[in-house]
Amino acid sequence: MLNSSQRRAGRSLLIQRNALETNDIIANKNKALFGKAFVMNFLSSPGSGKTSLLESIIPILKSDGFKVAVIEGDVETDLDKKRIDKLNVPAYQIITNGTCHLDARMVSGSLNSLDINGADIIFIENVGNLVCPTSFNLGEDIKAVVLSVTEGDDKPLKYPAAFYKSKVMIINKIDLLPVLDSDIAKIRENALSINKDMVIFETSCKNNSKAGNTYNNGLQDFISFIKDNVSLKVSVFKK
Ligand code: MG
Ligand code: ZN
Repeated sequence: MLNSSQRRAGRSLLIQRNALETNDIIANKNKALFGKAFVMNFLSSPGSGKTSLLESIIPILKSDGFKVAVIEGDVETDLDKKRIDKLNVPAYQIITNGTCHLDARMVSGSLNSLDINGADIIFIENVGNLVCPTSFNLGEDIKAVVLSVTEGDDKPLKYPAAFYKSKVMIINKIDLLPVLDSDIAKIRENALSINKDMVIFETSCKNNSKAGNTYNNGLQDFISFIKDNVSLKVSVFKK
């Protein structure tokens, strides 16, 4: 016989499970609406450089002929959307009013306003948080976790779900490595211990021509990965 606190715990688990099942149903509808577009859901802590990454790669993708749309998620403000607007691509800001993750229903609502017609790529920038965004499928093709080198090399071990569920990790702000004790080999090792198939890129979004630096900013490799996935999605979609 269950006592009352066990019954309460059971009920709350049931509610959580139902909420995630409902989320999955809406996520599947989103996926159908996304059509042939390759959709990436970016997860990270606040301040890892997700928006800067988008600002760096979207102009290149655009000039290579790809149609891009962006869904921004933040607890407050449309500051990130305003940055994306400057790139002249369709963008929609979801303001969650305190909720610390995006769910499929919010993304579904954004599709009433956002023009994704003919889009090749849709980027979803989740709320900066490595915990619950991992539980909510939004209808994306892949999750991508962005980790700044300033965050410490033990992050994959502390937030394993974000690294387990992401197909890709982007180690960002590598321009800061010379002034940090951060060990990029350790970040890789820790991430691969959680997800051995993870594809890893090392990037910097700083304007390195201006700074006179000569390091490879890694963006071209990441862009090639995106383009390959766009082709793959189109070929699967046709079948
Ligand atoms: Mg942002
Ligand atoms: Zn949350």
